[in-house]
Amino acid sequence: MVATPDGLPPLRQVILKHGLWARKALGQNFLLDLNLTSKIARQAGDLTSHDVLEIGPGPGGLTRALLLEGARRVVAIEQDSRCIAALAEVANHYPGRLEVLEGDVLKLSGTDRLQAPVRIVANLPYNVGTALLTRWLSPPAWPPFWETATLMFQKEVANRIVAAPRTRAYGRLSVLAQWRAEARVIMNIPPAAFTPAPKVTSAVVQLRGLPAPRLAADAAWLSRTVAKAFGQRRKMLRTSLKGIAPNLEDRITSAGIKPTGRAEDLSVEEFCLLSEALRRS
Ligand code: SAM
Repeated sequence: MVATPDGLPPLRQVILKHGLWARKALGQNFLLDLNLTSKIARQAGDLTSHDVLEIGPGPGGLTRALLLEGARRVVAIEQDSRCIAALAEVANHYPGRLEVLEGDVLKLSGTDRLQAPVRIVANLPYNVGTALLTRWLSPPAWPPFWETATLMFQKEVANRIVAAPRTRAYGRLSVLAQWRAEARVIMNIPPAAFTPAPKVTSAVVQLRGLPAPRLAADAAWLSRTVAKAFGQRRKMLRTSLKGIAPNLEDRITSAGIKPTGRAEDLSVEEFCLLSEALRRS
């Protein structure tokens, strides 16, 4: 038998034992190399004094790495009932440190099971990744329940999160993420690292929540302004924002922004100034 760093069975054996063949509908692309999952866990920073929220532990590769790296506690939410018995074996190996919640993360936040400080670490199911990130970035009050979020995305989505103005990737997700967090890509992961291999390259993004937003703005107005402006990203702001507020051109100008400019030209700070000017109207 192949030796593993934690003494638990190798992941391929876990998959065979519990019949965990990957299901596409659940976005299942597993990481079976414990060296790679450990590398991701180490990138998440010190875990020994943090609770970790993990979404989609699957057969447990990343979960095991988080526990091996010393996570104080891991709360993991998994929708696939087939994985629960496999994860129970990991929980038994680390008494009191792993709690698995079975359910859909879009209906179950898990936050009531966590104690601050919290880090989020996840190889996310691609079909819910953006919705989850948007939710974590838009809590009713800031700072959020998490300190850092270390998350796997399709590379194209990762590029959108960290994109700078005047680039093709810059858009709604970039502004929402960078308004209240520092975001950077920390690792690219090739398709061959996953079982089964997805068609696209993946990337791990790390977000560090800022103590306060970069510039004060009403979150709902900022979100509305950004969505509308990028809805027609090639159009001038006076056209793309039509209908959002009365006296539109005056409002845009009062924020120190040209009505003939385009969404992709505006920095995060300018979007804040613009959305506040529109809100005041
Ligand atoms: N963490 C494992 C790894 O790295 O090998 C599995 C990652 S796989 C990309 C995504 C996991 O999320 C799967 O285990 C899948 O069953 C789970 N999942 C998919 N949709 C989910 C949802 N809505 N709520 C909770 N888990 C979900």
